[in-house]
Parts: sequence; structure tokens; C-alpha cells
Amino acid sequence: MTARHLTGGCLCGALRYRLDPTEAVVDYCHCQMCRRWSGAPVTAWAQVPTVQFQLLQGTARAYRSSPKATRHFCGLCGSPVFMTDPGETGVGIMLGTLDSPAALAPTGHGWDSARIPWLHIADEWPRWPADAPHDVTEK
Ligand SMILES: [Zn+2]
Ligand SMILES: [Zn+2]
Repeated sequence: MTARHLTGGCLCGALRYRLDPTEAVVDYCHCQMCRRWSGAPVTAWAQVPTVQFQLLQGTARAYRSSPKATRHFCGLCGSPVFMTDPGETGVGIMLGTLDSPAALAPTGHGWDSARIPWLHIADEWPRWPADAPHDVTEK
């Protein structure tokens, strides 16, 4: 099986990663934790099994944001880059850190109940009040 890899990294380039996007789950997350962490009104994530993600360069700083998740960011430029769960089943990658962010598109909205009321994203994708049912990490 030939894997098609995508690459990405933080703003300053200290962190570089690659992922195999096979069967990646790609969703928006409107939750308050992602909002605070990113500083943006909404985040988008590509989630893959841990074995499909590899940090190629740099050492990410880690912040344990809840019992369910650790968020990893660049200690130099501050970019939020990825998230892991304690069981190491999956890695969520911030879609905006991909070198080619158009390569993957979201297919749903997690935590739509926490969406900022003025934010309207005109798509027909499913919206879940809390975690998307297929999420394995805190979102
Ligand atoms: Zn950086
Ligand atoms: Zn979230």
C-alpha cells in the first residue's frame, strides 16, 4: 500500500511533521478550549491514528489541557500544531499548519453548541452539539 504523505509545520519552521492522511477524519471544532488555544473563532483538525503521524524536526512543547488531551505547540513561534490523547490512539493536526491545507477538507462541525453566534459557515455538513461521534481525542 502506497501512502500519500502530507507535510506541515509551525510558523517559524522549527517544527516539521508529516502525516499519512489515509482515512483522516477532518472536522471543524467550535469548542472553547480549541478557541482559546488557537485564538481563532474556529479550528479545523485532521485526525489520524498515531502511527500515521511523525514529527520530522524540532521538539514540540506540550500542554496537558485536560485528562483527555495534550496540546503540542512550537516554543519559539507559538503555533499550535497538534494534539494527542493519553492512550496514544490518535493525533489531531491543526489543518492550518499543513503546507497544502487545501489537500483535506472538513466534513463536519464538532461542538456546534459552542459556536460563536456570528460565525456562519455555509455548508451542509453534519453538526454535532459536542464531540463528533468519531473523535478519539478531546475536541
Ligand atoms: Zn515555530
Ligand atoms: Zn475543540
